[in-house]
Amino acid sequence: MTAVTVRAPAKINLHLGVGAPGADGFHPLTTVYQAIGLCDDVTAGPSLDWDLAVTVPAWMDAAGIPLLGENIVDRAAALLAAHHDLAMTGEVVITKAIPVAGGLAGGSADAAAALVALDRLWAAATSDDDLLALAALLGSDVPFALVGGTALGTGRGEVVTPIDDRGTWWWVLVPSDEGLSTPKVYRHFDKLFPDAPATPPPADALLDAVASEDPLRLAELLHNDLQLPAIDLRPDLGRLIDRGQNEGALRGIVSGSGPTCVFLCESADHARDLAGALGHHADGREHPAVLVANGPVAGAHLVEYV
Ligand code: ATP
Repeated sequence: MTAVTVRAPAKINLHLGVGAPGADGFHPLTTVYQAIGLCDDVTAGPSLDWDLAVTVPAWMDAAGIPLLGENIVDRAAALLAAHHDLAMTGEVVITKAIPVAGGLAGGSADAAAALVALDRLWAAATSDDDLLALAALLGSDVPFALVGGTALGTGRGEVVTPIDDRGTWWWVLVPSDEGLSTPKVYRHFDKLFPDAPATPPPADALLDAVASEDPLRLAELLHNDLQLPAIDLRPDLGRLIDRGQNEGALRGIVSGSGPTCVFLCESADHARDLAGALGHHADGREHPAVLVANGPVAGAHLVEYV
């Protein structure tokens, strides 16, 4: 074998309910994830050593991506190697398309893709259950990046239950020029909501809206408990959401902990029109990128094996 390439999707949260932090400091979540067609690829080839490189599209600033030794892909590789008592070897390239520190779980996608790619490269034949358990050790969003589709996430988000979603939902994504730290947004949530419940309530109404396949209904029920703290820290996000909605989006929300804002549209054409209208900031500066993606799509999967 010369190389194996695995593709893993970004996620958005159709619902993100956040509870008060537990004794371990983690926030309990009730979330509904959707995997969308904006994906990173991880390619792994044989080598006697371990090497990791990252390539980014022209619009993306690579500065925020930790390199060899610090990347989440290094952690994924170390964990899988230790699980099987194997040497950690391979020549790995991450091809990014998912904005970094954007609330789209791009790092988690890379970790999930790396687990699947290295499992193949090393012929380790890890069971699905073990892969999911290793994924949960790497981060709360990593199990979902393996599973994909649309799914309910509980616990810290790592307990993933797939949901039957027969819709095709069209999204416009507007990444920000500047990242927003996830821990900072959670700290601000704690300050704004000191009385958050120990367990966030279920997302049943949202799940009904997903089942309806009706974007107008889904638009009404999209919900993110981190939106208020994110906008409080970054008022420009609130202005962007208002602009998108004024330009005809069915609804705009902050994705996860932000700062990417996502806009639900009625159709592919509607999404392309909206993306055209949102190409620039209100003051005329260009956004680094405005992306159109649909969901749900598959979780981490093999796209090339040569
Ligand atoms: P979170 O999953 O924490 O909500 P996010 O979706 O906002 O994060 P990510 O793109 O996953 O954003 O990046 C979060 C941080 O993870 C980055 O700031 C970066 O320092 C670190 N990181 C480690 N490995 C990677 C990777 N392969 N790609 C992107 N970021 C990485």
